[in-house]
Amino acid sequence: MRDWRWVDGAAFSERFGDVYHTRAGALGQAETVFLRGVGLPERWRGRRHFALLENGFGFGVNFFVTWRAWQHDPGRCAALDYVAIDAFPRDREEMGAFWRQYENDPRWRPLVAELLEQYPLPIPGFHRLWLDGGRVRLTLVWHEAMTAVEALAGRFDALYLDGFSPAKNPEMWSEFLLGAFAKRLASGARVASWCTAGRVRRALAANRLEVRRCPGFGGKRERLEAVAPAYGPPPRTVPKQVAVVGGGLAGASVAVALAERGIAVTLFDAHAAPAQGASGNCAGAARWLPSFDDNLWAQWTRTGLLTLRSRWPRWAALGAIGRWCGALQIAKSEAHEARMRAVVAQLALPESLLTWVTQSEASARAGVTTRFGGWWFPCGGWVTPPALVAAWLRAYPLATIWSAQVTAITPTENGWRVAWRPASAADTQGASVRSMDCDAVVLATGAGAVPSWPRSFVQDGMMWGAMPAYPGAPLPLHAVRGQVSCLPHPREARPRVVVTGSGYLIPPERGFLLFGATATPDDWHPTLRQSDHEANWQRLQAMVDWQPTDLAMRNAGLAGRVAWRAATQDHLPIVGALAPSGRWDDPKRWHSGLWVFNGLGARGIAIAALAGELLASQIADEPWPVSRRLAAAVDPARFVRRRNLLHSPFSDS
Ligand SMILES: Cc1cc2nc3c(=O)[nH]c(=O)nc-3n(C[C@H](O)[C@H](O)[C@H](O)COP(=O)(O)OP(=O)(O)OC[C@H]3O[C@@H](n4cnc5c(N)ncnc54)[C@H](O)[C@@H]3O)c2cc1C
Repeated sequence: MRDWRWVDGAAFSERFGDVYHTRAGALGQAETVFLRGVGLPERWRGRRHFALLENGFGFGVNFFVTWRAWQHDPGRCAALDYVAIDAFPRDREEMGAFWRQYENDPRWRPLVAELLEQYPLPIPGFHRLWLDGGRVRLTLVWHEAMTAVEALAGRFDALYLDGFSPAKNPEMWSEFLLGAFAKRLASGARVASWCTAGRVRRALAANRLEVRRCPGFGGKRERLEAVAPAYGPPPRTVPKQVAVVGGGLAGASVAVALAERGIAVTLFDAHAAPAQGASGNCAGAARWLPSFDDNLWAQWTRTGLLTLRSRWPRWAALGAIGRWCGALQIAKSEAHEARMRAVVAQLALPESLLTWVTQSEASARAGVTTRFGGWWFPCGGWVTPPALVAAWLRAYPLATIWSAQVTAITPTENGWRVAWRPASAADTQGASVRSMDCDAVVLATGAGAVPSWPRSFVQDGMMWGAMPAYPGAPLPLHAVRGQVSCLPHPREARPRVVVTGSGYLIPPERGFLLFGATATPDDWHPTLRQSDHEANWQRLQAMVDWQPTDLAMRNAGLAGRVAWRAATQDHLPIVGALAPSGRWDDPKRWHSGLWVFNGLGARGIAIAALAGELLASQIADEPWPVSRRLAAAVDPARFVRRRNLLHSPFSDS
């Protein structure tokens, strides 16, 4: 429900009993108090990257003014990260209502339209948007300020302290919160605010900021500027040249996110073309996985799917194939129906994310009779992974080396050496091993043969030995064989939406009906098995009471594909920096230059783009697109931490 109204030309918040901005003009205040207050545009000139943090996004006035200043400055930094916090976000309609006053103003109309196209739902969490061709990244953190600032990673070059007055919203200006903000500042960062209250100045000064009062704007006598001291470790050196091993969804997504940051990438794959491993299926289901307690996996898949959706127009323009037709998850029994219904009630999310549908509603949506009711994901659909990978690789110039089996990575004085040889046995005859030096390496090898690494990076047997691993894998991953079944030229154009549950069924929009998939761990059978087609058929029948065509056709005409997923025991992927043994909790781990992106399991489509963005942000030492908690959940160090906890004096044994 809208909790603000116009009063004398200014937006007035009923909740806080205060105006969103001075009556002298929101745009003028943004320019004078905030943009100039932190020394912009001069301070971003000649830099690769500039990171700005704002407390109190409101209607985004400060953001639009900053974005426009960046657009019009020929000396601007190559990329701008703008992270804004708000506990009570406005929804798209409210944003539209506020900005309608400028609808005939060519300065703001195109920017507002571009933002509104991607503007996120008002649900708690991190929401990253890519604007201006991806050079301006806006991360909206819909949380109360203290939760948000603790969840943030990265150092900021500037901080806008906006928000309602300390008298109306004291938490926003508490000493504790301002101290937390100060910890997020880069050396020499600048802070600006319209608020010069004594306790705000004292709190900043207590955190070693140099505070000064300057002539104010719009009838206010003073405004505040502050400068952070030169402190903390120097920023990490951002690698100039990165080798990515693996050209599937994982490798391609991190490669494109690095290239977007101006980092030179060389992508290796043992296959002759991209996306020939697990990412080679002609279609896969894209949806998220709700849970009653909205667990980490639910948050990862939901945020990942929304990230893919928000960038989809760009990837579709580059040739990505897929359709956001919606997806169903059909219950397995009446008891399961009751549990699924309880999850919908508990999460109380906007309908575009998740609703409950009865059996007859589900059947009407699908165009086939479903066995039970279930979850309806209007935001879901299907995607062709090889076309998405190809679109990513088209987006930026990347060096690619196909048919190259990477055999070893070894440390050098300044970085890493990647050694490879031609992948096929025939090519190997007489072929010598070739190598390339680089600053950092990302291993995105899926369930493929892992190159040999320095022994010091391989964890001790106590940790990995206990986990089922495929030969030579120094990470706690296991390979899961999967077979999809495919009925070419189906006679009926059904189902109309993606149906999931015991398996999945993709609408036959590309001339085939795809369903599956089997999941057998540590099974290396390389070709299609009739028994697996049968198993997929059983899965399909558990979801829908429908046979796409006659049984003879079913037995004779099924095609399919076999591939291996790399999975972890906790079902979460492995994304982050690797470390030599015993150094997992050492901050220097982030300097090792050896990174991993694997374990996407059966959900690569939903999470690859977000996880690739997280890894690229970590490599480039920029603000992360997810909370520290979500990043910690996929950190390779989590296995060591869990083991240490198990052997800590506080455990039972
Ligand atoms: C049958 C099946 C059905 C699936 N259905 C869905 C679905 O419906 N929805 C969904 O979201 N996900 C689905 N998945 C999962 C999804 O496909 C995976 O999560 C995703 O493709 C994994 O991507 P990746 O890049 O990690 O691995 P891969 O795509 O396997 O890429 C790894 C690449 O690394 C290369 N490589 C490995 N070692 C080396 C080396 N030493 N040198 C050079 N190159 C190397 C390999 O050649 C390979 O190309 C399915 C998977 C399977 C197998």
